[in-house]
Amino acid sequence: MSFIKTKGFVIQSIAYRDSNRLLKLLTPEHGLITCSAQGAKSRKSTLRVASNPFVFAEFELFYYRERYRVQAASIIDAYLPLMEDIKRLTCVSHLAELVLDVLRDNAKGKTSYPFWAYASYKITTDSDPILMTNLAQLKYLSEQGFAPWINNCLICGKEFSAQGARFYFAEGGAICEQISCRKNIGSSSIMDLSLGSLAALSYLIHNPYEKCFNMQLSEQIRQEIINFSERYLTFVMEKSYQKLDMIKSLENFEQGNVK
Ligand SMILES: [Zn+2]
Repeated sequence: MSFIKTKGFVIQSIAYRDSNRLLKLLTPEHGLITCSAQGAKSRKSTLRVASNPFVFAEFELFYYRERYRVQAASIIDAYLPLMEDIKRLTCVSHLAELVLDVLRDNAKGKTSYPFWAYASYKITTDSDPILMTNLAQLKYLSEQGFAPWINNCLICGKEFSAQGARFYFAEGGAICEQISCRKNIGSSSIMDLSLGSLAALSYLIHNPYEKCFNMQLSEQIRQEIINFSERYLTFVMEKSYQKLDMIKSLENFEQGNVK
C-alpha cells in the first residue's frame, strides 16, 4: 500500500454503482491512471467537483493491489468557462477521446501530460477553438510517432515548388507534381496541399507548444489544415470520430449555412 500525491487532469469521469465515479487521470509522472473516487457523485462529497471532466487538481491517492483510490483533491483549475461553452467543450471532449485511444496501448505515452496542459488551455481560451483542436490532434499524432511526411517529396526527395504537393494518405506523405513521382501511386485518398499549408504543417510539427499553437493563418490555409487534420486523424486511427461531426454542424450553424 502506498500514498501518492500528484497533479492531474481528469480526462474521463464515469459514474459507477451508487454514487461512485471512475476517473482517468493524466498525471506527469504516472501517465494515465484509472482511479476510483468513492462517493464522488454525492452532493456532500468533497470530491464532487474535483471529479468532473477536464478539471485540473492535485490529487491524493491510495495505491493498493494495483488500484488507485482518490482520498482527497484540491482543485487548481476547474475549467469553468469550458462548461459554459458547448463548442469548446465538444472540442476538448473530442481531444480527450483521441488521447484515451492513443494511451490505451501505452499509458505512459510520452509528452501526453504537457501536451494536454497546453492544448486544453488553448482550446478553452483561444478565439478559434476548432482550429486549435485540429492543430492539437496533428501535433499529438506527430509526437506519438505518426507525423505526416511533408518536408519534401516522398519519392524524389526534392523540395516542393509553388504548386505545393499532393498528400497520399496511404503513404503517409506528400509527393511533388512530377509525373514520374506520381505515376506509381494509386489515386485513392489524396489531398492537394498548398505550399502555405505545407509550411504551416511543418511549423506545427517542429516547434514547441508555446509557438506551434500561436500561428496566424489565412482563411484558406486554416480551412486546408482543418480538412487535412480531419482526414489524417481518421486515416491514422482507423476510426471515425463522431464528435467532429458535431463540431462541424456547430460551425455551419454559426455561418448560417445549415443544410
Ligand atoms: Zn517528387
